[in-house]
Amino acid sequence: MYIVLLGPPGSGKGTQGNLLSQKTSIPHLSTGTLFRDILANPDHELHKDIQVIKEGKLVSDEIVNKVVWDTLKKPEYDKGIIFDGYPRTVAQAEALEKMLESMGKKVDVVIDINVTREVLLERLLGRRSCPICKRIFHISQGLEKCPDCGVPLIKREDDNRETIMERFEEYEEKTAPLQSYFKSGSVNYIEIIVTESSRTASSVKEEIMNKLFELGLVGK
Ligand code: ADP
Ligand code: ZN
Repeated sequence: MYIVLLGPPGSGKGTQGNLLSQKTSIPHLSTGTLFRDILANPDHELHKDIQVIKEGKLVSDEIVNKVVWDTLKKPEYDKGIIFDGYPRTVAQAEALEKMLESMGKKVDVVIDINVTREVLLERLLGRRSCPICKRIFHISQGLEKCPDCGVPLIKREDDNRETIMERFEEYEEKTAPLQSYFKSGSVNYIEIIVTESSRTASSVKEEIMNKLFELGLVGK
């Protein structure tokens, strides 16, 4: 099954991607995580091309599509993918549909996570993550180290106020149009609305799992 997680920065795509992957055994693919690994590796052939990430700008469609195409062909992604952070533009969505079609596959469901701006900002400014297992935490949890890996949690370089504002703008301008793009197509569309900062990730996951079940895409 091919799932697309849609939503602004901080909406919980990464967290839900991890949780849904555990539940369904479908691999989770975060293009943001992929690019941050490339950013940390100066020898990588794409290292120069993705420096824009530091300013909160989007990487070019051409590069992102190529990286995804290389990934799609790997045998471990044969049975499906939970896409997190891709597609992020209409051009990427069209490219993804073409790539999947050429493999006799399609996007099965889009999960659109809507979260109010205030909640997003609070989450992003306090976000910490494990450099090893990539699990995501919040400073309010009071953790210094990853409970699984024992290494210090880190703050993402692009989780500062100025870059966050730029990422919100990029989202509104380039990614939000994907909502109507997918809604007007034939793909299953699940909409989640989060308005309270106290809403837990596991309750969002439950809502998603129930809706996937109603659509007949997962068992109980
Ligand atoms: P967030 O959703 O919190 O902004 P991500 O980890 O998904 O974070 O992405 C981090 C950065 O990586 C983005 O701001 C962008 O620069 C780059 N990026 C990730 N995925 C894409 C994509 N599909 N197209 C263009 N740029 C991307
Ligand atoms: Zn860890």
